Amino acid sequence: MKKSILFLRPYYGFHVHSDAHGELGMRQDNDHVYPDLTLLTAATVLSESGEYRVTVLDAITEDRMLPDELLLKLKNESIDIVVLKTTGATFQPDLTLLKEIHKIKPEADLRIGGLAAKILKRWLTENASYINEIIEEPLDEYALRLVDKEVSLKLMPTPDYTMVNYRAYQDEIKGLRLTLIAGRGCPMHCLYCPYKLYYTRHEYRDTDMIVDNIRRLIKLEPDEIQFRDQYFSADTEKVRELCEKIISQDLKARIVCETRLSSLDEGLLALMKKAGVAMICFGVESGDTSLLKKYQSLKGETARIKELVGHARSLGIETMAFYIIGFPEETREMAQSTYQLAEYLDTDYVYFNEYEHCQFDPEHTLYTPELFPAFANRTSIEYPSVLNAGEREDLVLNFSHQYAMRKSQSQAYDAGYKKMMNAKEAIRILRPLVSDLNELSAAARKIRQGQV
Ligand code: SF4
Repeated sequence: MKKSILFLRPYYGFHVHSDAHGELGMRQDNDHVYPDLTLLTAATVLSESGEYRVTVLDAITEDRMLPDELLLKLKNESIDIVVLKTTGATFQPDLTLLKEIHKIKPEADLRIGGLAAKILKRWLTENASYINEIIEEPLDEYALRLVDKEVSLKLMPTPDYTMVNYRAYQDEIKGLRLTLIAGRGCPMHCLYCPYKLYYTRHEYRDTDMIVDNIRRLIKLEPDEIQFRDQYFSADTEKVRELCEKIISQDLKARIVCETRLSSLDEGLLALMKKAGVAMICFGVESGDTSLLKKYQSLKGETARIKELVGHARSLGIETMAFYIIGFPEETREMAQSTYQLAEYLDTDYVYFNEYEHCQFDPEHTLYTPELFPAFANRTSIEYPSVLNAGEREDLVLNFSHQYAMRKSQSQAYDAGYKKMMNAKEAIRILRPLVSDLNELSAAARKIRQGQV
């Protein structure tokens, strides 16, 4: 008799982009819903192996199922193994949820994965006896190991999106967004990088396999296919080969990727456009070059980036730039220079992120779940910093709002500011309830219905 295994991504009132930020996850304060690619790929690996009965419960795709409903649902199901994908923002309620699952299913083998679980492995081993296994590697690599396959991206199947209500994976502007990888890991060495903590190798997939994946995803009629690679054009020859194959096989998809813009040139941009690339996201991080040097972040010459943004625009490719606010040494003036750079580069979209201190004790001896305050996008690690946490948060909010206001004041308010303020209020209400999932679910329901 095959064992039944459930891959679980819970929902507590916020959507968390759980395979972002080195799989530490990012709480989203907008209406974008991202799939979790490693979770879906892991489920696909086990399902295709024929060795397990596999189900995926991605609560946000189940009409935003809250934990009280989820526990009721699980009570009536026969499950041998539960693999919960945790994140920094959900780590605390995830532990409560696993305890509750253990109460209703004492025989079930409970496992937890995600970078937050890896960082807290020691604490979990010593304190969470209801958890049977702490998975330290990306779930898809773990799944390959479970079925005795070589752990290699070359063996990763196309994620089977039909295992969930994939139509819920909406980009609030562009529509249905499905994700894919062409490679994993990064040859750069930025000192603030969370990805390096989780993706220990830099590996590519075979180009024919990627093309085949795109063909399969197109059958699901996505409005957009987004590559989740950290550095999509680390090998420009591979990008060229991929684009040529997409063109020659006449595959039509709106493609989005993330890369270092300065690794591209005008010719490659034109080829990418022809292959369907409609948006390129890239890190700029700071307007202060001394900070970039200190953190080994090599983004290229500003003038060249500006030129490439202009060239992309002339081809009809949109651009999105990422900026970091609140490096430990950063003053308000330095942060302001980052905002000015954003205005100068004038990309179609920007994303200001708060600096995240991704420097963890390698032995992970000191940490408790308090390391990850519930529903926050940062840890509680104390480190010397010119700007305090409140100041960093305010600057991110102000810069995001200010940039959006360049287009439309009312849109900036509705799309950004109001949602961020609502999220802040929801966190204030829900954070104290993480150890009582019935109360948390009731409060999250009220927030959703606009009753608070
Ligand atoms: S470019 Fe830097 S931050 Fe981005 S994945 Fe590579 S090392 Fe990490």
